[in-house]
Amino acid sequence: MKVHEYQAKEIFIAAGIPVPPGRIATTVSEAVAIADEIGRPVMVKAQVHVGGRGKAGGVKYAENLEATKIWAQRILELTIKGLPVKKILVTEAVDITSETYLGIILDRVTKKPVIMISAAGGIDIEEVAANTPEKIHKFAVDPELGLRPFEARNLAYKIFRDIKLVRQVADIILKLYDVFWKVDASLVEINPLITTPINEVIAIDAKLNIDDNGLFRHKEIEDMRDLDAENESEIEAREAGLSFIKLDGNIGCVVNGAGLAMATMDLVKHYGGDPANFLDIGGSSNPDKVLTAMRIILRDTNVRAILINIFGGITRCDDVATGIVAAYKELKPEIPIVTRLTGTNAAQAKKILKEINLPTAPTLDEVVKKAIKLAGLDED
Ligand code: GDP
Ligand code: MN
Repeated sequence: MKVHEYQAKEIFIAAGIPVPPGRIATTVSEAVAIADEIGRPVMVKAQVHVGGRGKAGGVKYAENLEATKIWAQRILELTIKGLPVKKILVTEAVDITSETYLGIILDRVTKKPVIMISAAGGIDIEEVAANTPEKIHKFAVDPELGLRPFEARNLAYKIFRDIKLVRQVADIILKLYDVFWKVDASLVEINPLITTPINEVIAIDAKLNIDDNGLFRHKEIEDMRDLDAENESEIEAREAGLSFIKLDGNIGCVVNGAGLAMATMDLVKHYGGDPANFLDIGGSSNPDKVLTAMRIILRDTNVRAILINIFGGITRCDDVATGIVAAYKELKPEIPIVTRLTGTNAAQAKKILKEINLPTAPTLDEVVKKAIKLAGLDED
């Protein structure tokens, strides 16, 4: 789950990480009132769950109340990468002498939280990582010991020389690690962490993603969820109890179990297709889940075929088949749907599916090849 910059900054403030004062507004007059209260030039910042807001015109400097009014109005009219801006953060503008990148991710390779710091701050870190990876300093924290102060100082020294700055940055790194650990984050990022002409260190941007599997422990964060800012399909999937992640490919996948879903996606790639989504319908086999899954996938106009791969254990193939038939009748798909249902009640499922006569195959390998062929992706 993602939270907005302003929400991440609330968490930072509670942890003692310095951020400029500011508040959230949903209207132009609120924005102007906040700027008036701050009494200094402000930044007007779109609150949307996408990167590169600045480049899209969603981050503007406003010298005075008149400028605040103009920018608030314009930014509230923006749609950034498909997401309409409904909230803006009005926050004191600070003078910047340097911009540093500071982030912590849960790294799959080392299986540890990895802290990253780079003098190439303020810009897209993915770009830095791709072109000049040597500019990013990394440190994998031993999760048993936690981050120790000397380790934080060593990291700060990679970028700064002045001891006053090093102390502040090390302190922020320690506090940021605390945040990362306590909220079950998968990523926390300050880009940029800036220094001012009077040698203060301040976080002027904040990004925080929480591991969904840890959310049940953090009701206060679950309450921060902004449905307006999320993809409609992902909301629908979550409410139906489906694990769904939209991707950019052309083969829609309906699978039970995360491992099988990934194996299916790998094989789709292997045979020249591209998965349009990750979707795990989970252990139970409520036919409604299948219907919702199909509805979500069919909304995606890139999808050229749907591949249904069910390995029945607790999941009963006949229930899934009932869902498929219901979806077929209700949604009247115009693209091929290829099925493989094996395991618990597979024979009954076969009977149920006879009614709509979908192409099928006995093995995973064959069903994937068939889906790709029927999607017309095997010609070249
Ligand atoms: P992003 O584009 O979504 O990453 O938004 P950021 O909050 O990181 O802002 C983008 C850039 O705008 C920063 O890297 C800064 O260069 C600039 N910026 C943001 N806030 C301030 C500020 O308070 N003062 C100054 N001078 N520049 C700012
Ligand atoms: Mn940023």
